[in-house]
Amino acid sequence: MPDTKANTREHAAVIGGSVAGLCAARVLADSYARVTVYERDDLPATPSNRATVPQDRHLHMLMARGAMEFESLFPGLLDDMVAAGVPMLENRPDCIHLGAAGHVLGTGHTLRDEFTAYVPSRPHLEWQLRKRVRDTDNVAIVRRSVAEPRYDPARRRVTGVLLDATGTDGGEPEFVATDLVVDAAGRGTRLPVWLEQWGYERPREDALDIGIHYATQQFRIADGLITEKVVVAGASHDKSLGLGMLCYEDGTWVLTTFGVANVKPPRTFAEMLALADELLPAHFSTALTRAEPLGEPAFHAFPASRWRRYDKLDRFPAGIIPFGDAVASFNPTFGQGMTMTSLQAGHLRRALSSRDEQLAAELSRATAKTTFPVWIMNAIGDVTFHHAGAKGPIPWWWRPSGALFDQFLGAAETDPVLAEWFLRRFSLLDSLYMIPPPRIIGRAMAHNLRLWLGERRQAARDRHTVAIASAAEPGDAGRHHRV
Ligand SMILES: Cc1cc2nc3c(=O)[nH]c(=O)nc-3n(C[C@H](O)[C@H](O)[C@H](O)COP(=O)(O)OP(=O)(O)OC[C@H]3O[C@@H](n4cnc5c(N)ncnc54)[C@H](O)[C@@H]3O)c2cc1C
Repeated sequence: MPDTKANTREHAAVIGGSVAGLCAARVLADSYARVTVYERDDLPATPSNRATVPQDRHLHMLMARGAMEFESLFPGLLDDMVAAGVPMLENRPDCIHLGAAGHVLGTGHTLRDEFTAYVPSRPHLEWQLRKRVRDTDNVAIVRRSVAEPRYDPARRRVTGVLLDATGTDGGEPEFVATDLVVDAAGRGTRLPVWLEQWGYERPREDALDIGIHYATQQFRIADGLITEKVVVAGASHDKSLGLGMLCYEDGTWVLTTFGVANVKPPRTFAEMLALADELLPAHFSTALTRAEPLGEPAFHAFPASRWRRYDKLDRFPAGIIPFGDAVASFNPTFGQGMTMTSLQAGHLRRALSSRDEQLAAELSRATAKTTFPVWIMNAIGDVTFHHAGAKGPIPWWWRPSGALFDQFLGAAETDPVLAEWFLRRFSLLDSLYMIPPPRIIGRAMAHNLRLWLGERRQAARDRHTVAIASAAEPGDAGRHHRV
C-alpha cells in the first residue's frame, strides 16, 4: 500500500515483532524501500502464546477505538477476525457487564450512539497483524535478537543495528546498516541506557507504583450459559481485588483476577470462582459452577505504570525512535496499551513527512499529546481508587477530581445516558479526555440530587410508618425500645 512519498528511504529496522513492532512496520513499509523486523522470540504460525510476551496469557481487551485504528492500518482486519469467530459487540448493552471503581454501570439499555467492539484473544490479534505484515512485499520478519544499535558520534545518528551472534556465524555479532531504527522492544527497552552511553540525557520517567498482580485461568463453559461477552469488575477504594472475563474466538473463556496495591489475587481456579461469586451478580456464579478449567493458571506482576518522557529531551540522536510500550506502559487493568500503540502508528505516519532529524521530535510531541489525557486519568483513578503511590508529590487536584468522578460513576449506575457516555470514553472513543461536558455534568448532578431527595423522602416515610406502628401498638413498641 505505498503512498505518494513511497520508498524514498532505503532501510528501516524494527526491534521487536509484537503489536507495536508490527504496527510500526506496517507504516514504515510505505516510506522505506525495505523494512526488517527483528524478533528474538519464536513466532508461531498459528495464534499461540509466546515466551517473551508473558502478558498474552492474560485478559487483553481491545478498545473500540483500537479496533478502528487497527482497521485503518490493516484494512480488512475486522472482517477477517469476525470470520474467524472473534465475538463482536454492537449496540447490545446486554453483552457487557461493566463495574468501575465499585459502581456497576447501568448499561442495560440499547445504546444510542454507534458502538462496535471486538473481542479477539491477544495471541489471535497479534497473529492477524503478523500475517498481514509478513504478506507485505517489502517487509521481512527475521528471528534475531538485536544486541544494540550502532551510533556514529561524528554524524550524531544511529547508523544500524548489531545483531546478536547466532550459532552459525562463528560467534560474531552482525552489523546491518539502516536509515532508521524503531525501538519497539517493550517495557524492557534499553534505549535510555544507550542514550546515556552515546552522551545524551536519559529521559525523565514518570512512574506510578500500582503493584498489580494478575492470576488467569482459561476455561470452557457450555454455550449460552453466559450471554455477556465482556465482564469487568474493577478494583475500588474499598476492594483491592478485581476481575475481568472475556469470551474469545474459539469459544474459550479467560478469567483474569487481579489485585492492586500489591494485594495478591487468588492462585487456584476454585479461589478465582469464589472471588467472582463475591464481585459479580448471582447469575454469573450459577453459570460458573459449570466451568471446566483449561490448562494451568498463569501469573504476572506489573509493579508500575511508566511514561518515558522523550518529549522533554532537548537533544536526541537522528536515526532512531522509541515506540509502543517502550515509551509508555499503562495500568493494564484499564486495557488501553494496544489502542495507545495504534494511535502512535498514526502519529508515525504523519511524522514521516518531516525531515529525518526532526522525525523523533515530531513523533514524541504527537505521542505526548495523546498519552497525556489517558495517563492523567489513569493516575487520578489509581491514586483515588487503587492506593497508588508516585515518587514525587501528587498534584493537589488529583484526589478531589477522583472523588468527583466517583460521584459521576454513582449516577451512571442508574442513568443510562451517563453510563453510555462513560462506556464510550472508557473505550477511548469520541475523545481521549475523560472530562464530562457541562451537559453531562449537569445531568449527573441533577440525577444525584434526585436520588438524594428520593432517599430522604423514603427515610421520612419509613420514620412515619414506624411512628404510626408504635402509636397503634404501644406494648410492642415499648418492648422494641427496651431491646
Ligand atoms: C498483564 C498485562 C495485561 C495487559 N492487558 C492489556 C489489555 O487488556 N488491553 C491492551 O490494549 N493492552 C494490554 N496490555 C498492554 C499490551 O500488552 C501492550 O501495550 C502491547 O503488547 C504493545 O506492547 P509492545 O509491542 O510495545 O511490547 P511487547 O508486547 O512487550 O513486545 C516487545 C517485543 O520485543 C521483543 N524484543 C525485546 N527485545 C528485543 C531484542 N533485543 N531483539 C529482538 N526482539 C526483542 C520481545 O521478544 C517482544 O516480542 C497489557 C499488558 C500487560 C503486562
